[in-house]
This record gives sequence, C-alpha cells and structure tokens, in this order.
Amino acid sequence: MRSSEYENIIKVENVYKTYKNGTAKAVAGVSFSVTPGVCFGLLGPNGAGKSTMMKMIYGVSYRDGTPDSGISVFGHDPGRNALPIRFLSGIVPQENNLDEELNVEQNLKVFCRFYNITGSQAQDRISELLSFMELSEKQSFGIKQLSGGMKRRLIIARALLNNPRLLVLDEPTTGLDPQVRHLIWDKLRRLKRQGMTILLTTHYMDEAFQICDSVFIMNKGKSVAEGNPQQLVNKHIESYVLEVYSKESFSVISKNVTEKCCRVDDDGADVTRIYSDDYERLREFSKQLTGGDFYLRQSNLEDLFLKITGSRLNAQQ
Ligand code: ADP
Repeated sequence: MRSSEYENIIKVENVYKTYKNGTAKAVAGVSFSVTPGVCFGLLGPNGAGKSTMMKMIYGVSYRDGTPDSGISVFGHDPGRNALPIRFLSGIVPQENNLDEELNVEQNLKVFCRFYNITGSQAQDRISELLSFMELSEKQSFGIKQLSGGMKRRLIIARALLNNPRLLVLDEPTTGLDPQVRHLIWDKLRRLKRQGMTILLTTHYMDEAFQICDSVFIMNKGKSVAEGNPQQLVNKHIESYVLEVYSKESFSVISKNVTEKCCRVDDDGADVTRIYSDDYERLREFSKQLTGGDFYLRQSNLEDLFLKITGSRLNAQQ
C-alpha cells in the first residue's frame, strides 16, 4: 500500500509510558495522528516526553518499562512488529551513532546491505544522497574528520537510503550552528515537497515555525496544544510583545501599561513581557525606554507555551 493510501501514517491513542526506574509517567495519556505528506513536530522543553514518544513510535522503548500500546505506524504495532515499519521509515536518532571504524561511504554501504541495496544501485544511491546532503567531497573521510553538522547530515543521508515514506528525526539540529540548521531545514522542506511524511522532535520553537505544518506541544508527558504553528499563535496569543529587560526600565512605563490594560507577564526574574494586539501602543511604550533594554516583536510559540504552562520552553537549557 502506498503511503498516500493510509489515512494516518502514525496513530497514537491514549498512550502512557512509565520507565522501570522512573517515578513519574514519561508519557501520560497522549493522542495524535500524523497524516501523509505533512511535517509534524513534537515540541516541548527537556523532559517533556518527546524522545520517549519517538522511541515508542520506532519500536525501541518497549523493554524499558511498561509495555507500549495504542500506537500504530503504517498499520503495524511498533512494539511487536517493528521490521515492516523499519523498511518504510528512515530514523535519525538524537545521538550521532556512526561507526567510527568506517569512513563516510562505508557507513552508508553497511545500511545499504540491511535494505538489500547492492552493487551499482548502492553506489548510485550513495552518490545521490551525499550530493543531496552536500557531502560529496567527504566520501572517503573518516568519521572523526567530520564536524558535528557533517555527522548530522550523514545520518540524515543514511536514513534516506531506502527512500522511506516516513522520516523520523529526534532533535535534528540541536547543538548545530545557524548555517547548518538552515541547510537541514532546506533539505527537509525539499523532502516534504517530494511527498515524504516527516515527524520530528524539537525544543526550538523557530524550528517548528520554519518547517512544521502541525505541532503537538508537550509538557510533563501531556499535550498542552496542537495545531498549525501560526494558527495556534493567532488563536491564543496577542499579536505583539514588548520585552523589557530590567525592572528599572519597566518601572518607567509600568503605570501606563497597567492603565491601558495590556497583558503583562513577569517571569519572576528580570524580563517583563507586555502583550497587545495594538502594535502602535507598544511602540509608544518602547520610545520611553533606552535602546538595548527592550525588544518589540511578533508573538511566537514560546509565548504561547509561557501563557499555557507558566514556564519558558527552553528554561532548563
Ligand atoms: P524529552 O525528549 O522531551 O527531553 P524524554 O522523553 O527524554 O523527554 O524524558 C521524559 C521523562 O522520562 C524525563 O523525566 C526523563 O528523565 C525520563 N526518562 C527518559 N528516559 C528514561 C529512562 N531510560 N529511564 C528512566 N527515566 C527516563
């Protein structure tokens, strides 16, 4: 069956997970579905349960704690029947699990054998993917000679060898510099245009905004919001925010802010955020402040997360 013939590539229904040595539930009653051809993002801070959810989806978490149930990928249960899912999917794990004894090309060849891609077909596929990920010149390099960004790109190339219908990426750009992140986003957008379904986890709200059609925001193992990133922000948050970086500066405008009834979020530290749909009003406030002590911008998913949970997405970083 082609992926377009599946109503949902992934279906997750009321899923729980408690680790053997864990006290709290890592995933606590989560449900969502991923339809063909979309880029779906699991978003949330560290410890939200994103990686646990991912591991359950690609069938590697079932021995760690309570048995997995309620998940279907291409119609198969990943805890019991992972092999057909592996043949239809490409996995990019969080860690750079390349074989350092082998060079770039050999790392890909090993996976070709797993997928029964041999001879000139394997050679062509490897050349094509190294070119796609802009690694052609590194073909005979050792893994230790690669930068972090090159290793990530090689792992993505490896995940694409079997021309998967579903690409699963766990924190694909964490720790990478902005240039490499943009390159990876560009490649993922291209794959999506070719019809590939993409599931990724991220704690970067800009990443979710840039490439996801739909996000599922998690906190403490539960869902806090779900939908298109822009529509979620439009629906739940005022359009603009004035961030003021010190209490002293905020005190200059605080009287007017209160009188004019903007929503004020004080993070308990130095930063005060003033939310409003009235851009001009916020701009008037900012004129009373010293340059460098404020930032006037559009609201984003980080603001949404702050409003719903009372904490910042990347607070633990
Ligand atoms: P995220 O990917 O969103 O950072 P994780 O799924 O890694 O979150 O973790 C969710 C929760 O499960 C955390 O409290 C974490 O400490 C716990 N956890 C993750 N892996 C294990 C494990 N192998 N054993 C015990 N607890 C775990």
